[in-house]
Amino acid sequence: MSKELNVLRTLKIRLNPTPQQHQSLLSTLERFNEACNWIAQQAFGGRVTNKIAIQKIVYYAVRERYALSAQMTIRAIAKVAEAYKRDRDRLPTFRPHGAIVYDERILSFDGLEFASLWTLQGRIKVAIQVCGYHAGIIGNSHVRGQADLCLIRGKWYLLLVVEAPDEPCESALDFLGVDLGIVSLATDSDGNTYSGMALERKRRIYAHRRRNLQRKGTPAAKRKLRKIAGVQARFQRDTNHRISKSLVNIARDTHRGIAIENLKGIRDRATVRRKQRSKHANWAFHQLRTQIEYKAASRGVAVVAVDPNNTSRMCSECGYTDKANRPSQALFLCKSCRYSASADFNTALNIRARALVMKPMVASARNAVRAGVQLHAAAL
Ligand SMILES: [Zn+2]
Repeated sequence: MSKELNVLRTLKIRLNPTPQQHQSLLSTLERFNEACNWIAQQAFGGRVTNKIAIQKIVYYAVRERYALSAQMTIRAIAKVAEAYKRDRDRLPTFRPHGAIVYDERILSFDGLEFASLWTLQGRIKVAIQVCGYHAGIIGNSHVRGQADLCLIRGKWYLLLVVEAPDEPCESALDFLGVDLGIVSLATDSDGNTYSGMALERKRRIYAHRRRNLQRKGTPAAKRKLRKIAGVQARFQRDTNHRISKSLVNIARDTHRGIAIENLKGIRDRATVRRKQRSKHANWAFHQLRTQIEYKAASRGVAVVAVDPNNTSRMCSECGYTDKANRPSQALFLCKSCRYSASADFNTALNIRARALVMKPMVASARNAVRAGVQLHAAAL
């Protein structure tokens, strides 16, 4: 496969250390950040901010004072130099549990089951948890340079940047039409619906709790607010992850492409439905779309974006198009042939039909993926 087809992805890999390994990782993380703080002070006092210059001043002292390995010392110096790159006039401070950047000299993978990491107690082999989707990527790619070891809410993760080739797209003869919405987050032309009810219920509960906490305005309330925002975003992402994975699997297993409405249509519809859609729902909607495009490209499923005009008003049976075909938000009932179906399902059938008369736009799907990678990394 040629090189330009590769894309960069950030994978979040969960570590499952034993209690003893947890202690090793924790003491290493704390020692590393202590060293960073000390290095920052030395560099600041000596008025040097460049990596090589800092190294000259502190390298041996750091190894001795903090008992870090040669490579770990280099990583600590690099982290300090990075901070000075952002602002050379301020003494940076490092949180005790800030990330360590591991490179291939202090981190390696043993199949898909273990990661071997350097710690103050020597190298340890920690069990990792990789989902099938990530396993495929790790299996067929090379790790690019580095991974961040992070402690997030008491759990250990490696954030790993990999360069993975996209699978070549099969040229699709048929398509799975997908209508993206709010009540049903997605409806496909096979008749599957992916409900947003649980998500919407959670959103309402949280919105209510947020209002109360905002009214309080105490530091404790503010902390709680931040926590709620995090829980909500994770639930959202997991839901979208499940839906997009399922849609892409259905398409792939049946050798079909995926058809969705093009972005212009989404915007138009967003205007129509603005009243029922919060800013949050809009964001979630784009996240789902991006995840579909992203996963489809990585699994070799073609994505086609079709003209969204009247997809919700046209009868998928006879083609008759009328606003009056929609007696309610949920129902489609054709004035001409009396065909009736759920409105979202009728729309999904129209999206599929439009894709069948178009050529798959593989190139544009790939561009969407490029944009999606950034979003994906930002969402982590
Ligand atoms: Zn009809």
